[in-house]
Amino acid sequence: MTTLHFEAVPSVQLLGRTPGLVVMKFGGTSVGDTDKLKRVAARLVAAHEEGAKVVAVLSAMGHTTDELIRLAHEVSPEPHPREYDMLVSTGERISNALCAMAIHDLGHEAVSFTGSQAGIVTDASHTRAKIVEVRATRIHDALAENRIVLVAGFQGVSSSTHDVTTFGRGGSDTTAVALAAALGADACEIFTDVPGVFTADPRIVPDALKLDTVSYEEMLEMSASGAKVMALRSIEIARSYGVRLRVRSTFVDGAGTWIGEEGDLVLEKAIISGVTHDTSEAKVSIIGVPDRPGVAAQVFRELAAAGVNIDMIVQNSSRDGEATISFTMPKTDLPVARPMLERLCADLGGAQVEQDADIAKVSLIGAGMKSHPGVAADMFDALAEAGINIEIISTSSIRVSCVIRAAEVERAVRAVHERFRAYAEERVRA
Ligand code: ASP
Ligand code: MG
Repeated sequence: MTTLHFEAVPSVQLLGRTPGLVVMKFGGTSVGDTDKLKRVAARLVAAHEEGAKVVAVLSAMGHTTDELIRLAHEVSPEPHPREYDMLVSTGERISNALCAMAIHDLGHEAVSFTGSQAGIVTDASHTRAKIVEVRATRIHDALAENRIVLVAGFQGVSSSTHDVTTFGRGGSDTTAVALAAALGADACEIFTDVPGVFTADPRIVPDALKLDTVSYEEMLEMSASGAKVMALRSIEIARSYGVRLRVRSTFVDGAGTWIGEEGDLVLEKAIISGVTHDTSEAKVSIIGVPDRPGVAAQVFRELAAAGVNIDMIVQNSSRDGEATISFTMPKTDLPVARPMLERLCADLGGAQVEQDADIAKVSLIGAGMKSHPGVAADMFDALAEAGINIEIISTSSIRVSCVIRAAEVERAVRAVHERFRAYAEERVRA
């Protein structure tokens, strides 16, 4: 048995491919009450009876995690991180143990594991731990005994402190994908309350289209720019290990959306995969900093050291030896970043720090952009026609993002989606 070590992705004990093994992940709404849990149990049993080796990863029931977090804050304004993880990891223990009981009553063997028991080994950073290794031997043994295996999502154990850690909200996807990689599963199926990945949020664009296929690259950009269908980290792991992913509904039958390598999917006419939006970020500007080498390095090194994730950095060309640096960052990190930026600004002799929380980011994503000039111009044009001003623009080879006023986000998503609808329809028909 070999263990491969990859930079920035978990090392996984490669147990070889396991034909017929499927990892099935169910989100919180899919296990919202005991009736739904029993239905999930029946679904796992059905897959098992069809001959699959079944590993299930369940989220906590309904709003259990929100409720646990609320309790923590009722007791303590800043809950101790170790105890916070001890607390919030229990939600998943409940749902997985209940489901295992229901499976037993259907006459099948099942066993539920905590993240630690399942061999999910993480670093020591509480509330946002990263998986560093998966030691899936115990799961492998249980499967060999013909059991259905259930694993508590979004948690692991630190190899250095031996404490329970959690991955941050939505982290059960990461558990599922990491296990699928470690076990060499045929596929990792993400069961959720929507039928797949859409070309825009259907709450804003009711006639958005469901995509049949999306490449890892596109899905990464969509998740990073606000699509909530899967946790970003889980897609990074899927891409690194080539885990075939399928997002599908728990409640209605359908093929869902396959996520995989661009070359393996039928994407010929793929120009646009979707329009995403994000209202969780703020815009920050440091005005009047000296225009000399090292200034940007100092600002962003300190923010990185504090764990603040920065996006969309722009620096204008300087005037009279002074420049303004603007960027976006999560609103939730402002309490940490603000005092730090004030101090940096004073140290650097800058004029002031401005923050603006009333912004939104609208992004257009599509692998076909690489070979299709004019996509960005069309997006800007759609926004202009809707009378929406663009404040910051940033691009990657397959994404264009614009910062706009938060109040205009829904109109912006609709305008951009409408402009590219023909491309989206072509893609879905392809
Ligand atoms: N229960 C956790 C949450 O609500 C993890 C998950 O659902 O993926 O964030
Ligand atoms: Mg959840």
